[in-house]
Amino acid sequence: MFQALPPTRYDLCFSLGGIPVRVHPLFWLIALLLGSSGDLWTIPLWIFVVFVSVLVHELGHALAFRFYGIRSQIVLHAMGGLTIPEAAPWGAGWARVSPSPKQEIVISLAGPFAGFAFAALVMFGVTLAGGALFTSRLFGILPLPLTAFLPFGGNLLSVFVTMLLFVNVFWGIFNLLPVFPLDGGQVTRNVLIQYDPWDGARKALWISVIAGGVIALLGLFVMRSLYVALLFGILAFQSYQSLQSRY
Ligand SMILES: [Zn+2]
Repeated sequence: MFQALPPTRYDLCFSLGGIPVRVHPLFWLIALLLGSSGDLWTIPLWIFVVFVSVLVHELGHALAFRFYGIRSQIVLHAMGGLTIPEAAPWGAGWARVSPSPKQEIVISLAGPFAGFAFAALVMFGVTLAGGALFTSRLFGILPLPLTAFLPFGGNLLSVFVTMLLFVNVFWGIFNLLPVFPLDGGQVTRNVLIQYDPWDGARKALWISVIAGGVIALLGLFVMRSLYVALLFGILAFQSYQSLQSRY
């Protein structure tokens, strides 16, 4: 489900700071579907916000890989983004340099935290420009200053900045949940492996099943989002299948 799709002739390819980026055509379609509930005029804006935000997230992973001397490439595909480490020169020949569990934790956290840092920068920019930030409650609980109002640029700019803040903070928090294959699931596994090298990976899968199931129920009954319920229901089931096939 989260595997990279093979290259197509419609891929958008470019490079950012020496990191190759490939955007699969289905990425735009999924971004469009996720934003289809908004007003018609906000849809291109929404797609651009999703593109920038997923790119910032993956750049966080890619820069963390680079910090540990591992080259990587970014692929934006139908289910979001992926940062794939490349084979790197190592010793006499070529081998894939695999990061230690501690390094993996930093690499996983770098994605969501790149988004949080980006959101903080945007908030700073709004304040500097004389704009205002209003608090909205995330999940109906967490109060966060995610609604922006700017004194210029009309409604368009304020909506754009509000979308940027929402996606970078909201998706970042979601990504930190201890469910596979989200970044939070990877962090949980690598933390548990430190303390329990034999059974840590299995325990992380059980946490993923339980957390995924609980979030699916919260999505359905509290957030009233069929999308959240389905997504986490599927992820919990996939973790359960991994448990059945591996242990
Ligand atoms: Zn990530």
